[in-house]
Amino acid sequence: MFSQCTSRRTGDPLNTYLCDISAQQAADQVKINHGKAMVSYQCDSCNYWHLCPEERHTPSVTCHHCTSGDGRPKQLYATHDAAEKRADCLWQENRVQLKVYKCPHQHGWHLTKFRDWRG
Ligand SMILES: [Zn+2]
Ligand SMILES: [Zn+2]
Repeated sequence: MFSQCTSRRTGDPLNTYLCDISAQQAADQVKINHGKAMVSYQCDSCNYWHLCPEERHTPSVTCHHCTSGDGRPKQLYATHDAAEKRADCLWQENRVQLKVYKCPHQHGWHLTKFRDWRG
């Protein structure tokens, strides 16, 4: 069982997918049914996948140097703006407050939860 994440904007439960592939299939379905572009993202609170409207999505890559508190690789954002946009998205959806900081190993930016912040 997994805990159900809800959208803080609408109060509705977020659709949760067990993997990126099924989330991506669901996104394609939304696009077909509603003409709305959605992208899948891995949730930091439940570790499963949700969909986010594309205009609020910020592309990221996996950083091979940095891991988060639970040992998972961190997402690396190309620009400070992109990282801030992502932090804003997570705040809207999950009320998780995140801080943007520069990756110490390569060019890019990470998010960290305030309580993990030691910089
Ligand atoms: Zn979640
Ligand atoms: Zn890094």
